[in-house]
This record gives sequence, structure tokens and C-alpha cells, in this order.
Amino acid sequence: MLVVMRVGATPKEIRSTVAAIRKLGLTPNVIPGSLRVAIGITGNKGAIGREQLELLPGVAELVPVTKPYKLVSRETKPEDTVVAVGAGGPSTSLGALSERSESKGVRFGGERFTVIAGPCAVESRKSALAVARAVKAAGALAFRGGAYKPRTSPYSFQGLGKKGLEILREVREETGLPVVTEAVDPQSLEQVARHADMIQIGARNMQNYSLLRLAGQSRRPVLLKRGFSATFEEFLMAAEYVLAEGNYQVVLCERGVRSFADYTRATLDISLVPAVRKISHLPVIADPSHAAGRRDMVPALSRSALAAGAHGLLVEVHEDPDRALSDGGQSLAPAAFAELMDSLRRIAAALEVTC
Ligand code: PEP
Ligand code: MN
Repeated sequence: MLVVMRVGATPKEIRSTVAAIRKLGLTPNVIPGSLRVAIGITGNKGAIGREQLELLPGVAELVPVTKPYKLVSRETKPEDTVVAVGAGGPSTSLGALSERSESKGVRFGGERFTVIAGPCAVESRKSALAVARAVKAAGALAFRGGAYKPRTSPYSFQGLGKKGLEILREVREETGLPVVTEAVDPQSLEQVARHADMIQIGARNMQNYSLLRLAGQSRRPVLLKRGFSATFEEFLMAAEYVLAEGNYQVVLCERGVRSFADYTRATLDISLVPAVRKISHLPVIADPSHAAGRRDMVPALSRSALAAGAHGLLVEVHEDPDRALSDGGQSLAPAAFAELMDSLRRIAAALEVTC
């Protein structure tokens, strides 16, 4: 249920409505809009008695939210959410989010096409810094690199762990790029939330609900990747777990799904991009690297994501892809990444998007 306040409702009327919702044992989520405030109600088991709320001063109308996902839905928040990464302090409400959109930090969900780039895994200080400098010069706005790697084989390189996080911190200090890295369990999540600017939840953990709740409690922006076989609804419900803990800074990432198509590692589900933009206010980006699994197809998939309306990309770039400890086959060399950025800028200009 959504309580829509009248245009010009006073702060006191909003506070009283919030208190009335709490008194019913429910959770109010205040969502400021450009014209008026709405309050999303969560925590109800069944239908909510309308009578206690609809006659309160300042309340315009009560609107049922028909979708199973509530806080991520455009029914609850019609305006696009802008997630600011590396902006400093955490945001704890949808209201604070709107204020942050004016603040500094790298933004996802505005008019800008925001590219995150870097190696699959952080391998050494020297190589991470070299890639970070190169991708920054080419126009990437954030750096990625796994310190904790969820590998299919237990014998493959599992990441440098804490040492990797220290390297990421150095990368941020030296380049000014905010850093994004994956958390795979509660212990790594605690470390990642402390040292990185954005917590990545990978495809394998998209339905790890206890990890999603912890990411929601962390107050760091979250990059949530779609599970290999997650439906649209399952993906949005996973994001709902994070928002339900009070963390509204979620960027969704389409990274390819399993299908019968076997020419690529996964199938980039481009149609997810306009679907998310229609149904949810959250920003959505694409990961062409894990979808393609081969570097020759990364540029074409990147351009198609931009054309389809994605808010950005996550691209794997390695100094020397053929020697990478993970995902080398799909990683671009810095020069190829710079070429890709040039071609994206030409498309972005036609779309009147900054890239
Ligand atoms: C990654 O980003 O390196 C990664 C492991 O991605 P995914 O979770 O999408 O497989
Ligand atoms: Mn990878």
C-alpha cells in the first residue's frame, strides 16, 4: 500500500502519518517526489485497514501496490533513483537518496552512461594500478576487481582476500576512482563494506537472502548481478531484500543468463533493460564480459546495452588478458577498452547521453 500525501502537506502531517502507520505495527518508507510525498507501507501480512489512514490530515489517497515487489517498484516511486557511489556517507532513506543525487560521487541512473572497468580479480598492486590508470584515461568512472572470487572450481585462483582490498584502497587513493568489489559471504561482506565504495553481489549469490539482508544493513551502495537463471521477478525480489533493510542504493546488473545458445558463455538478456526501466525506479547496467565470455563480442554487446537504455556497463579489462588469473578470455586489453569507449561516446552523442 502507498499513502499519497496532498501537494503541500506539512512536515507535521507527514510525521503524524508515519507515526500512525507505525502504530498499526507496519513499516513506513517515506518517498519524497518532485510534487508530493508518498509513504510506502511494508510489513503487512494481509490487507491494511484503510480507515485509520485515509482520513488523516494531509493524506490525499491510498493506492494499493499490485506487484509482489514493493519498494523497488515504480508504483511506489515514480521517479528514477540516482545511486551515488563514492559520495561519502551512507543514505538511509529514499528521501536521503534524492538529496544525494545533488551531491558528489559517481552516479548511476541519471543522464550519464557510467562505465565501471577493471580486471576480473585483483592480482597485484602493480597490475591493478596500471589498469586503473588506463581505464580512467579512457573514460571509466569506477574501478572493479575481485578480492574474493566465487570460482566454479575450488582449485582455481580464489582472489587475494584482504590484501586485494588493501590494493583496491590504494587504487582509489591514487586514481580517485571509486572501487567496486564482490562479497561472497558475511565475513567478506563486512570487509568489503568497510574498504570498498560499492558491494557487488554476484550472480551465484543473487538468491542468498541472508547475504542480501546484510548488504541492506551495510548502508553501502550495492551492485546486484542477476542470477544465471533468475526470472525478472526473482531478480527484483532479490533487490527488494536489500531495500527492505533500509538501503535504497541498489544498481541492477544484467550479466547474461543460461540459454540453449552456446556460441557465447551466457545470453545477454537485453530486453531486461527496458523491462527494468519500465517497472522499477532502480538504475540498470549491463555486463557484456560475463555474458559474452569472449572479448571479441564485448564491444557489440556494450553498444547494444547503451542503445537499449542501460545506465552503464561493467567491463573486464586486464593489462595482459592472455595471462590473467581469471576470465582472461573475456577481458579487453586497455587499448581495446579505449577504442570501445570512443565508439560508445559516438552512440551516446546521438542518444543525447553523456558517456
Ligand atoms: C564477476 O563480476 O567477476 C563475476 C564473478 O560475475 P558473475 O557473478 O556475474 O558471474
Ligand atoms: Mn569475472
